[in-house]
Amino acid sequence: MFGIKSRKTISLLIIDAKCTGCGTCIGKCRRNVISLAEEGGYKWAWAVRPDECTGCGKCQKVCPEDAIHLMKKKIID
Ligand code: SF4
Ligand code: SF4
Repeated sequence: MFGIKSRKTISLLIIDAKCTGCGTCIGKCRRNVISLAEEGGYKWAWAVRPDECTGCGKCQKVCPEDAIHLMKKKIID
């Protein structure tokens, strides 16, 4: 008997130009995917553990700058 296997890929994009480094998204992520970087007085969020992202969307919902974009795709193997 044959079965179709599928898996989900998640792509998390944080747009530097929009991010103000407020850190709100970091507090919402239970998987510690996002961290803050700082250089020259500027702060911005970046995905330090992208493989841990479940695609729950909590970070995206709380971002006041609409700087986080999530893409989910189902791949059939
Ligand atoms: S989508 Fe969920 S798991 Fe992924 S970075 Fe955002 S809060 Fe964390
Ligand atoms: S909530 Fe948005 S603006 Fe704030 S640090 Fe996260 S990505 Fe940047």
